[in-house]
This record gives sequence, C-alpha cells and structure tokens, in this order.
Amino acid sequence: MAATEPIKIVVVGGSHGGVTVIKHLLTSIQSSNKKVEITLVEKRDARHHNYGAYRALVNAEFGDKVWVPYTTLFGAKSGHKVVQGSLAHVHHHDIVLESGTSIPFDYLVLATGSTNPTPSKFDNFLASADAVAATNQTRADLIKSKNVVIIGGGACGCELAGEIKTAFPDKTVTIVHSGANLVDYEGFASSFKSAAKKHLEGLGVAVVLNERANIEGLSSKNSIRVGSATITTKDGKTIESDMQFFTIGNQVDTSYISSLKPEGVEEFDASTLVDQERHVLKIRKTMQLSNEAFPHIFAIGDCTDFSKVATGVACTYTAPTVAKNIFQLISSGPKAKLANGSVPGGLMILSTGPNTGVTALPLFGSKFGNFFSKALKSKDLLLGTTLTDMKVASK
Ligand SMILES: Cc1cc2nc3c(=O)[nH]c(=O)nc-3n(C[C@H](O)[C@H](O)[C@H](O)COP(=O)(O)OP(=O)(O)OC[C@H]3O[C@@H](n4cnc5c(N)ncnc54)[C@H](O)[C@@H]3O)c2cc1C
Repeated sequence: MAATEPIKIVVVGGSHGGVTVIKHLLTSIQSSNKKVEITLVEKRDARHHNYGAYRALVNAEFGDKVWVPYTTLFGAKSGHKVVQGSLAHVHHHDIVLESGTSIPFDYLVLATGSTNPTPSKFDNFLASADAVAATNQTRADLIKSKNVVIIGGGACGCELAGEIKTAFPDKTVTIVHSGANLVDYEGFASSFKSAAKKHLEGLGVAVVLNERANIEGLSSKNSIRVGSATITTKDGKTIESDMQFFTIGNQVDTSYISSLKPEGVEEFDASTLVDQERHVLKIRKTMQLSNEAFPHIFAIGDCTDFSKVATGVACTYTAPTVAKNIFQLISSGPKAKLANGSVPGGLMILSTGPNTGVTALPLFGSKFGNFFSKALKSKDLLLGTTLTDMKVASK
C-alpha cells in the first residue's frame, strides 16, 4: 500500500512572523495524527534578530549574537526542512524561487516582512557574515566620531540614539525629526510620546522637533554617512555632525504575488490583493489573503495590512491564529470555522540601552520607565526568546 503523501506547508520568511508560525505549527503537529511536512524558505543564511540591531552596532559581543542559524530549528529526522532562496512568484499550488526552483504546497504562509534602513535591517545582505562585517565597520566609524545626528524620531531613531548615547556618553547625539512628537504613531497616548522625549533628553540626547533636514548623500538607501555635515534650522541655528544616520522608511516588496491567479482562471488582476500605497498584502481577520479564491494562502507580519504599526508583537499575537486555522482547514475542510487574529493596540517598549527605556501598555496610555522596560525588553532585547524559538525541534 502506498504511504499517504504528507500535507505540505510552506512558510516564506524566517524571521519573527515565519518562525513564530512554525513554532505553533510544530505544536499542532505534535497533538494531531496528520502527516505534515513544513518547508521554510528564507533568502538569508541566518535569522536576523533585528530588535538587537542597535545594541549590535555599539557592542561587538552582542553583534556576534544577533544572527541566529536555522540549523537547530527542526530536528534532523523531523522531515521538515529549510531552503535558502528568494521567493519570486506565487502560484495557486506552488512557489517559484529566483533560482527557478519550484516548491509545491497545500498551504502557504507569506511572512516576507519589510525593510528598514541599515543598520536596523540588512536587506541587501544575503550572507550574515557580510552583515556582521558591515556592522563592525560602522561601529569602527562610530567610535571615531564625536557628533552624531540621527534623522527621524520614530521608534528606530529613538532606540538608536539611546543605544549610542548610553554606550558612548561623551559623544553628542542629536535626533532631528520633522514631526511635532517623537514616536508619533496612531493609537499611542500623547503622554507616552512626551515621556519618550523627556526620557531621551534625560539621557543627554538632544531632540530637535519640527525640522526637516536634508543631508546630501544621506537617504533610506544610503542610511549611514561618515563626514562632516551642517544642518541649519528654520530659526538659523546650526547643528554640526561628523556621522549621520537616516532611520526613516519602512518598505515592503510583495511583487511575488503578481503571478497569482485562481486555479482554472485565465484573467485575474493580482494587484487587488495588495494595498497599492504600502505594497502590503491585504488579508482577512482569519489571516488569509483577502480574495476568497485563496483560502489556503495565509500571510503574517510586516508584509500585511493587519496592523497599522508594523511590530513583532503583532506576529506574536497572530501566529497562533495562522497555525490554528491551517489545522482547522486540514481537519475539517474548506467549510471549517476559522478564528480571527487580534493584536492589542498601543503596546510599545522603547529600549534606549541595557538598563533604560519607556514602555507604553494598552491600559489607557499607561507608561512605565526603566525598571519595567529593562525587565520586559532592554536587558537582552528579547534575544533569549528568539534563541528559544530557533531551537524548537519536532519530536
Ligand atoms: C531596530 C528594530 C527594533 C524593533 N523592536 C521591536 C520591538 O521591540 N517590539 C516589536 O514588537 N517590534 C519591534 N520591531 C519591529 C519588528 O522587528 C518587526 O515588526 C518584525 O520583525 C516583523 O517580522 P516579520 O517576520 O513580519 O518580518 P521581517 O522581520 O522583516 O522578516 C522577513 C523575513 O523574510 C525574509 N524575506 C523577505 N523577502 C523574502 C523573499 N522574497 N524570499 C525569501 N525570504 C524573504 C527576510 O530575509 C526576513 O528574514 C523592531 C524593528 C526594528 C528595525
């Protein structure tokens, strides 16, 4: 008698969203009698723990730890596998990598995330060794600098400023931000935004608001610049620096979806699956693609329109829903009742060094200082959680 074919689940993107889904899928597999085979497709050779990117910049020892290999994610005899490759096309029941390799699936989870300017994410580096070398070079340049300017006062700009000022208290660090508030995200209380400013100023970071600075040669694509630059503010003051970071811009590439069309259909406009402004995939509350022709294709994290603010927390909260719904479809078929994912709004831990930070919890804008921030994130920037997740083995 021929052995039954395993159910094939392909997850693309091996970072917070993809790996957290896999963690929950492995748990579901253990408690089910289904034969399931997971394939993780990831373009890089290791998982970047990007929460730790700025600590890695200022601390060489930490820098060696933020790239975590996939070798222990699945047990050797689990039947699951990791394929290094870049997704180029999604079809109804297979994906095609840039190499031309086709990988068939019964269920697909897209977790291809987003890109932020280096040194927070490293989209242009496929080899982790190259990203570590680039970080080491930036650290060497940073050590030589005296006056650092950071363009952008979102969470990235604030965390970068805090890490640099904490590690190198003798340097001047200035955030130049075009808006009226730091961390000015929808759904966050103004008390949190002003607490973030007060906190950074308390650390010795200068904060300049309502100023749009243009430094030649500095952009989201060339986000680190070494060399002197002068910013002249609206009221004629000057800010001198010898190293600058550009921290604005979260970009998403979901062009791989343009080849998708329902089975047996000749003409289909795949652009309807994507938010044309943000390029994120439009998904339902069940985490499936918005079009009902694709109940077996799920998406999670920064590559989706699920949350207004792209966070790892959103992945943590919605990954169980993805895994649960896939297993519901496997066991009960297309009419299965599926769960909705949800994410608490207004939750952010702004880490500004190993011992400091500001935390917003979704309790009417409650904000907490160093003690909570250190305990919840700042101490190791949740590297321990990532290491634990990456060692999950199928038994
Ligand atoms: C410095 C920094 C600190 C942060 N701190 C926090 C925090 O404290 N709390 C929080 O909640 N959020 C935080 N975030 C946001 C958080 O990191 C992201 O929301 C989270 O990483 C999103 O996870 P993701 O899996 O959706 O995408 P990503 O982390 O962007 O991962 C996508 C993965 O897919 C891979 N990939 C992309 N395209 C392809 C392709 N075509 N083929 C194959 N593989 C592909 C990438 O290589 C990557 O591994 C922080 C972000 C930064 C930059």
